[in-house]
Amino acid sequence: MRIVAANLQTMFEVQADILVPMAIPEDALQLHRGQYDAGLVLKHLSGLSFPHHPRILAITDVDLCSPVLTYVFGEAQMGAKSAIVSDFRLKHNADGAPAPSAVYYERIVKVALHEIAHTLSLYHCDTPGCLMQMSPRIDDLDKLSIHFCDRCGFVLHRNMKEFRSKQHSCK
Ligand SMILES: [Zn+2]
Ligand SMILES: [Zn+2]
Repeated sequence: MRIVAANLQTMFEVQADILVPMAIPEDALQLHRGQYDAGLVLKHLSGLSFPHHPRILAITDVDLCSPVLTYVFGEAQMGAKSAIVSDFRLKHNADGAPAPSAVYYERIVKVALHEIAHTLSLYHCDTPGCLMQMSPRIDDLDKLSIHFCDRCGFVLHRNMKEFRSKQHSCK
């Protein structure tokens, strides 16, 4: 969590606080799949009040899925408050071997930055290596750099400016 928070602070130039642990909402459990529906967890999160935190990133170790995807590394509400990352599938490589801790940390940071960028209204991107590329498999995730391409970087910069001015006008 500290590594993710530090990377969020650096990339988005915002303060990232680590909040108290919460239980995963059990109504998001998909009993027949043994996984949690990421969208339902996000819905639960966005119903909670975090007066000092305009964006919330949950980090969980349970396996996440969506109604149409077998699994997801993370999910976010587009241009809205909540995002989630699961490390369930980040700890091992495609061949099942445990990932070295540096690789594991890099993966969780990549997914976190990608999901938070969605909450800042960034869409997926086709530029090879860009953090906003879709990475359905662990090998795809490993191919990404920890950077946004020029176009996504530009959109992010513009959206962050707007985001910051909204935060200030709310105070
Ligand atoms: Zn995405
Ligand atoms: Zn991009």
